[in-house]
Amino acid sequence: MASLKIENLSVNAEDQPILKRLNLEIPQGEVHAIMGPNGTGKSTLAYTLMGHPRYIITRGRVTLNGTDLLALPPEDRSKQGVFLAFQYPVAVPGVTVANFLRTAINAHRKSKDPGDKGISILEFRNSLIEKMKLLQMDPSMAGRYLNEGFSGGEKKRVEILQMAMLEPRIAILDETDSGLDIDALRIVSEGINTLKNENLGILIITHYQRILDYLKPDVVHVMVDGRIIMTEGPGLANRIEKEGYEWLKGSESK
Ligand code: ADP
Ligand code: MG
Repeated sequence: MASLKIENLSVNAEDQPILKRLNLEIPQGEVHAIMGPNGTGKSTLAYTLMGHPRYIITRGRVTLNGTDLLALPPEDRSKQGVFLAFQYPVAVPGVTVANFLRTAINAHRKSKDPGDKGISILEFRNSLIEKMKLLQMDPSMAGRYLNEGFSGGEKKRVEILQMAMLEPRIAILDETDSGLDIDALRIVSEGINTLKNENLGILIITHYQRILDYLKPDVVHVMVDGRIIMTEGPGLANRIEKEGYEWLKGSESK
C-alpha cells in the first residue's frame, strides 16, 4: 500500500528540539488525525513536511511511496502530490484565486509531462465552477486576490478548493477548523469528505474533536511534546474531548 512514511523524525526550530524521533504512517485512502495540546509541534510537522527552511531536520526520513521527500524542494514535494493547507494562509496581492490555481495546476502537469501545453481555459473553468459549488463558494471569489481581505472561513474554503483542484495524494490540513463557525465548519468538512478517495491520504491536524465528527478519521494519533504518544481508533478523539490531554501524559516515555 502506498503511503507517506515518517521515520524517527527529529526537527529543530531556532536550535530548540521540537519534534523528537516522531514516527507516523499515512496510507493513501485513509484519514488520520493528529490531536495534541498547543505548542506540541503539530504545525512544525506540517511545515517540515512541506520543506519550510526554518525547520532543521536533525534525524530521520520522510518518504512518499518510497521517494525521499526531504531531498526535494517544496515545489517538487507538491508535484509529488503532497498538499498542505496552512493554519494561517498568506495573502498574495495581485494574484487572483483563479490565476493562482491555474498556474499551480499547469506546473504540476508540466512536471509529469514536459510537453504539456497546460489545461485549457474551458476545462479549467468548468472544473473550478464545479468545485466551488461543492464548497458553496460564490463564483466571484475566483476573481479576487488570493486571501486578500478574506474572512477566516473564506481562507479555509480557498485552501480546500486548492486541494480539490490539485488532487494530491497526501493532504495535510493544519487546523482547518480554527476560526470557522459551525456552518462554515460543516461546509468545509463536507467539501473535504467529497474529496476522499482511495488515492488520497488525509492528515488532519486539530486541537478539537468537532471537525472529526464530520471527517470520521480511521486513526487518531495524539502528539505531546514532539512525539506521537498514542495511536487508536476514532474513539480516542471523544475521550480527549471529555478528559483533555492530562491523563495521557504518563504515556510520554514510550
Ligand atoms: P502546535 O502547532 O502543536 O501548536 P508548533 O509546531 O506551532 O505547535 O510549535 C511547537 C513549538 O515550537 C512551540 O514551542 C513553538 O514556540 C516552537 N516553534 C515553532 N516554530 C518555531 C520557529 N519558527 N522558531 C522558534 N520556535 C518555533
Ligand atoms: Mg499549530
